[in-house]
Amino acid sequence: MQTAIYAPAESIKRQPEVLSELKSRWGLCVVIVRGEDPAAFRIVRENGLKAWWLAPGLWGELDVPAGEEAVFVPIEGADIPAHERRWPMLCPARPELGKRLGSEYATRARNCGADGVLCTHLRYHHPADIHGLWGCVCKAWCAGAMREWGLSPAHLKEALSKLPHAVRLAMAITSSGKRSSGSPAAVHPLAAWWDDLVGGDTFARWFRWRCHTVARLLAQIESTFRGELERPFAINAFEPFMAGAVGQDYSTLVEFSNVLSPLLSYHDIHFVQSLSNLASWLSTWAHAPNGLTAQAIAHVIGVRCDLEDRKKVTLACLEKAASAARALQVRFWPTFRALSCPPAEVRAYFEAASALGAELIVFQGVDALLEHGTYPEWY
Ligand SMILES: [Zn+2]
Repeated sequence: MQTAIYAPAESIKRQPEVLSELKSRWGLCVVIVRGEDPAAFRIVRENGLKAWWLAPGLWGELDVPAGEEAVFVPIEGADIPAHERRWPMLCPARPELGKRLGSEYATRARNCGADGVLCTHLRYHHPADIHGLWGCVCKAWCAGAMREWGLSPAHLKEALSKLPHAVRLAMAITSSGKRSSGSPAAVHPLAAWWDDLVGGDTFARWFRWRCHTVARLLAQIESTFRGELERPFAINAFEPFMAGAVGQDYSTLVEFSNVLSPLLSYHDIHFVQSLSNLASWLSTWAHAPNGLTAQAIAHVIGVRCDLEDRKKVTLACLEKAASAARALQVRFWPTFRALSCPPAEVRAYFEAASALGAELIVFQGVDALLEHGTYPEWY
């Protein structure tokens, strides 16, 4: 079995011996370098490993030029603190953005001597950012959405205005365990559920349109990149239960990515925070008497285990993503955090991913992979 790690360029330069240790103990063969120092890429290759570059995406690591930020429909009660909300996001509907990013990726990857490129954050914020679910609705977006999908912020607001009442009426749906039949066109069960509640298909179209917007951006990035540099090109993915709500439809994503590489162990910020924020938003907004619990939403999206159990949730994510990779017949690179996580837990992920046919098992952080010492800067 082969493994990969995400690693900062500075740490590679400071402690290159970590690479050889991981190579002999864990079959390390790829290092996904955070940073662009050519010296770090050289060190990786001198250890007989492939050096990929971790390319920044739509938010977090990029300067967002004024006027290119995503714009969101103002929704009452959506201002709940969320981890990813701190980063402004580039609007994925900007007409030339894909060409700009694709070209920049190729130039930078060539300059640092990368063997391949793995892009991160080519998606909307995690669903914990409730506000972020309702955008971007800038002029570029609105023109396209109306023309191609007959969808406008007004349609969304109308559907949302019916939701509180519908949620109140439907509290029994989740507590009785009845699942939404859903619209077949929905890219996410939450959209199907909300459409069922209010009638129509606005939410299905809304979330599908976001996936479509991201897919169009990825197509532009990928074709520009491939036109300029012959190197493997991949995109990491959100965990499978919620990917459709952040603009990542796996079946479309893999058209532009060499591999399916989902980030599976962000149990706290991607999973628990998203479910609890969605629950708190819906229940407060709907003045629901008992509050919608995160467990009820978990039921709608198909998670059947204890939400607080990080290991069980992560393994459920792994199984769902592995089955998507099998169905789509793509190479599978599941990604787990190996920082502040017990070694036995990381070993269990490794073994489960191996059994599910992962081609490469990717870790972020190395603490749980090495017996001695701590490596806080290897993350
Ligand atoms: Zn926009």
